[in-house]
Amino acid sequence: MTNIEKQINNVTQKIAHAAMQVQRNADQIQLLAVSKTKPVSLIKQAYFAGLRHFGENYVQESIEKIKQIKQDDDFKEPLFWYFIGPLQSNKTRPVAEHFDWVQSIARFKIAQRLNAQRPDDLAPLNICLQVNISGEATKSGTTLSQVIELASQVSDLPRLKLRGIMAIPEKTENIERLEKQFDELHNIYLTLQGLYPQVDTLSMGMSGDLQSAIKCGSTMVRIGTDIFGARN
Ligand SMILES: *Cc1c(COP(=O)(O)O)cnc(C)c1O
Repeated sequence: MTNIEKQINNVTQKIAHAAMQVQRNADQIQLLAVSKTKPVSLIKQAYFAGLRHFGENYVQESIEKIKQIKQDDDFKEPLFWYFIGPLQSNKTRPVAEHFDWVQSIARFKIAQRLNAQRPDDLAPLNICLQVNISGEATKSGTTLSQVIELASQVSDLPRLKLRGIMAIPEKTENIERLEKQFDELHNIYLTLQGLYPQVDTLSMGMSGDLQSAIKCGSTMVRIGTDIFGARN
C-alpha cells in the first residue's frame, strides 16, 4: 500500500467515525482531495486509491495539471475538478473552461464572467458561494447578510448551477466557537435549500476540523494535508 493510500484510508475512517457519532450516513459526506501544490504523480496515487474529486487553488498550476492528466492514459475514468481558491476576474476564462465546480464565489461579477465564459458543450458550472463566517477582514467570502441576495443573482445565470455554500472558519482551538460558526453555516444552507431545491452541498471541514464540520452537517470535506502531507 502506498503512503497516499494509507492516508486516504485514515481519512475515510475518520469521516465514517465522525458520521457514526452523530448518527449520520457517511455516504452523504463527499471527500474532496485538495491537491494544490502537489504533483500529478501524487494525484495519480490518489486516483488509483479510488478518488475522483480534486480541489485546486491556483489557476495556472491547476490548468497545467488538468491538461497533463487529460492526456495521461493511466487515468481511464474522468476526474472532477473543483476550484476552491480566490479567483480574480482576469483569470475566470480558463476556470470556466476546465473546471466542473467553483466553490469560492464571493462576488456577482465573477459569477457573471464564469457564466459568459462557460463553453456551450459543457454542463453548467456547479457553484458554491463562499461565506466569510468569522467576519475576519483578511478572509474572502460574502457576509452572512449578503449571501441570500448573491444567491438570488447567481441563480438567474443559466450557465451556472447553484449547489450550495463553502466556508473556511477561523482557526481556533475553541471547539464551541468553531461549532457555532459551522452551525450558522448549516442554517444558511438549509435556508438556501428551501429557496433553491437543487442546493445539496455544504462544503465545510478541512484536515484540522473535519469532525466538528461533520457533526454540524457538512456534506463535503476538503482534505489536503491529511492526504498529501504538509505543503511548503
Ligand atoms: C488548502 C485548502 C484546503 C485543504 O486544507 P488542509 O488543511 O490541508 O486539509 C481546504 N479548503 C480550502 C479552501 C483550501 O484552500
